[in-house]
Amino acid sequence: MKTVTERICCSDRPLFSVEFFPPRDADDEQVLWRSIRDLEGFDPAFVSVTYGAGGSSRDRTIRTTGRVATETSLVPMAHLTAVEHSVAELRHVIGAYAAAGVRNVLVVRGDPPGDPNGEWIPHPDGLTYAEELVTLVRSLGDFCVGVAAFPYGHPRSSDVDTDTDYLVRKFRAGAEFAIAQLFFEAEDFLRLRDRVEARGCDATLLPGLMPFTTPKSVAKAIELSGAPFPPALAARLEPFAGDPAAFRAAGIDLVTELGARLLAEGVPGLHFYTLNRAKATKEVVVRLGLAPEQARAA
Ligand code: FAD
Repeated sequence: MKTVTERICCSDRPLFSVEFFPPRDADDEQVLWRSIRDLEGFDPAFVSVTYGAGGSSRDRTIRTTGRVATETSLVPMAHLTAVEHSVAELRHVIGAYAAAGVRNVLVVRGDPPGDPNGEWIPHPDGLTYAEELVTLVRSLGDFCVGVAAFPYGHPRSSDVDTDTDYLVRKFRAGAEFAIAQLFFEAEDFLRLRDRVEARGCDATLLPGLMPFTTPKSVAKAIELSGAPFPPALAARLEPFAGDPAAFRAAGIDLVTELGARLLAEGVPGLHFYTLNRAKATKEVVVRLGLAPEQARAA
C-alpha cells in the first residue's frame, strides 16, 4: 500500500484526490460505492474518508476506509480527530486503521460536537491540538500523516501569520503534507503557500476544491471556507439561479478555471471535496487533463 507522499512525489504529472464522508444508511452507502467505483478508473492519488462525531459514524469511517484498502485498487486515507477521545481511545482507532491496512491518516483536531463554533473542551484524558495528535500517530507506526491548512486562517486564530506558525509546527511534528480548506481564488491559496515557504518549510500543500453544482453547494463552500463569496464569482453564477443546468455548467467552469490556474502555479495535485458524488469531479478532472487516457475516452 503506497503512502500519499509516495503517490504525489513519485508522479511526473499533477494528480487529483477525492474526499468522501461515511455513509449514513444503506442508500448512502450505495451512492458512495458507485462514486468510488466510478472514480477508480480515474486513478486518484488517494481517497479520503472523513471522521465524524458519533460512535457509529466513526465505526463507518473505519469500515469504509478498510474496505477501500482491501476491495479496491485505490490508496485510502483515513481522517482522525481528537474530539471526545481519550489518548487510549485514539490509540485504539489508530490500531484499527493499521489492522485494516491503512497507512495514511489525515489528522485534524475536529470541532466541538453540536455547535462547531462552541467552546473547545478537550477530553480530560485527551489532546488539545492537532499537533499533539500528529505526534501520537507518528509514534504508533509507519504512518504518512497529513493535516489541515486554512488559506484564510482558522476561524479561531487571531491572524493568518499565527495560524501559519501553528501549521508549520504540525509539519515539524511529523506531518508530511496538508490539505487546504475551501477557498475561492487561486491567490488565497498561493499566499498561504508563500507564508509556509517563508518559514523555511517545503512540505506539500494540496488545494481543496469543490465543484459548485448548485446554489446549495456554493452556500456549503462559503460556510466551510469562512470567507465571503467573491462578488466577481457571484456575478458569474447569479444569472443562472433559476436554471439548474446552466448554473451547474457555470459552476463547473469556475472550478475548472481555478484548478487550471493552480496547476499553472505548480501545485502537485488538487483535492476534491466530492460530497460523495463522482460526476462533477470527473468532469473537472477530465477538463484539466488529470485523468488517464483510457478514463478520458470512456
Ligand atoms: P489545530 O491545528 O489544532 O488548530 C485549531 C486552532 O488552534 C487554530 O486556531 C490554530 O491556529 C490553533 N493552534 C494550533 N496549534 C496550536 C498550538 N500548538 N498552540 C496554540 N494554538 C494552536 N473535521 C472533522 O470533524 N472530521 C474530519 O474528518 C475533518 N476533515 C477535515 C479535512 C480538511 C482537509 C480540513 C481543512 C478540515 C477538516 N475538518 C474535519 C475540520 C477541522 O477539524 C476543523 O476545522 C478544526 O476546527 C481545526 O482542525 P485543525 O486540525 O486545523 O486544528
